[in-house]
Amino acid sequence: MKKRIFSGVKPTGHMHLGNYLGSIRQWVALQDKYDCIFSVVDLHAITEDYDVADFADLNFEIAALYIACGVDPAKAAIFIQSHVPEHAELAWILDTITPTGLLNRMTQYKDRAVEKQESVNAGLFNYPVLMAADILLYKAEVVPVGEDQCQHLELCRDIARKFNARFGQTFPEPQTILNETPRVMGLDGERKMSKSYDNCLYLLDAPDAVEKNILVAKTDPQRLRRTDPGRPEMCNIHLLHRAFSSPEEAATVDKGCRSAAIGCVDCKRMLIKNLNAFLAPIQRRYTELRKDPGAMPSILRKGAERVRPIARETMAEVRQRCGLVPM
Ligand code: ADP
Repeated sequence: MKKRIFSGVKPTGHMHLGNYLGSIRQWVALQDKYDCIFSVVDLHAITEDYDVADFADLNFEIAALYIACGVDPAKAAIFIQSHVPEHAELAWILDTITPTGLLNRMTQYKDRAVEKQESVNAGLFNYPVLMAADILLYKAEVVPVGEDQCQHLELCRDIARKFNARFGQTFPEPQTILNETPRVMGLDGERKMSKSYDNCLYLLDAPDAVEKNILVAKTDPQRLRRTDPGRPEMCNIHLLHRAFSSPEEAATVDKGCRSAAIGCVDCKRMLIKNLNAFLAPIQRRYTELRKDPGAMPSILRKGAERVRPIARETMAEVRQRCGLVPM
C-alpha cells in the first residue's frame, strides 16, 4: 500500500515560482511513490477578496499548471476542493475541538489580520482548520509544502491528536515534507514570494516580463558596488540559479559573485536565459491544455470522482465516532 499525499494551491492569483519550487516540484518527484491527491483549494481562496467573474478560469489555470509542470492526472487525482463537500463538513466538526487560542497564534492569520484590521472574516480565522480537514479527510500521511505551511501542519497534527483522544483512533498524524527550496523570497527580497504580495515571478510570465522583473529584483543588500564581493547564500537570484541553471553554471556564478569576478547584472542575465528556457515548455503544454475548453473541467471531474469515495468513507466513520445520528 502506497502512503497517501495531500497538497494544494489556492486560486487567489497566478501560480508563481515559490509555489513551483516549494510545492509542485516535490509533487512531480513524489507522484510515482505515493498515492497523490492534489487539490485546487477554492474554499481557502474565497476567504480573501476575489473576482467572481474570473474565479472559475483561475481554478482551471492553476489545475492546468499542475499538469503542465509534470503532475500526471493518470497517477495523481487533481480536483477542485469544493467539488467534495465533505471538506467543509469535516472542517466544521474539527472546529468544535479546536481551541480559538491556537488559531490566534497562527502567524499567517496574524499577518493578514494586521493588514486587514477589522475586516477579517471568520473564514480566514478558521482557515487552518479547513486545511487540517483537507488532509485528514483522506487520512494523508505526508504533506509536501513550503515552509510557510509548517505551523499549519503542526496544528493539523494537534487537531488529529485531539480528535483521536476524544473519539478514538481515527486519523494518522501527517508528516510535513520540505524540499531544498522551502522558502523562496519575493523580488523585493523582503518577504516570501506570494500571490498576496506583488513580488512574484509567475509561471506564465512572458520572456520580456521575466527579464524586466529579474533585472529589478533585489540581490545581496551588502553588495553595493560591482567590485564588492557578494554572498550568494544571501541572494535570491542564487537560489533561483541553483533551481534553474545547470550545476556547473550555478557553481560558476557562485564563485564569480564571491570574488566579484561577475556583477549582479551578468548573473541575472544568465538566470533570465535559463529560466525562460525552463518556462517555455511548461507554457507550451499549458496553452495546449487550455485550447480545448472542455479538457480541464473533464480532468477535474474525474479527479473528484476518484477521491469522493475516500471522503465519504472517512465522514461516515467520523459521524459514527462523534455519535451523530445515522442518516
Ligand atoms: P500563496 O502564498 O502564493 O498564496 P499558497 O498559499 O497557495 O501560496 O501555497 C501553495 C503552496 O506553495 C504551499 O505548499 C506553500 O507552502 C507553497 N509556497 C507558497 N509560497 C512559497 C514560497 N515563497 N516559497 C516556497 N513555497 C511556497
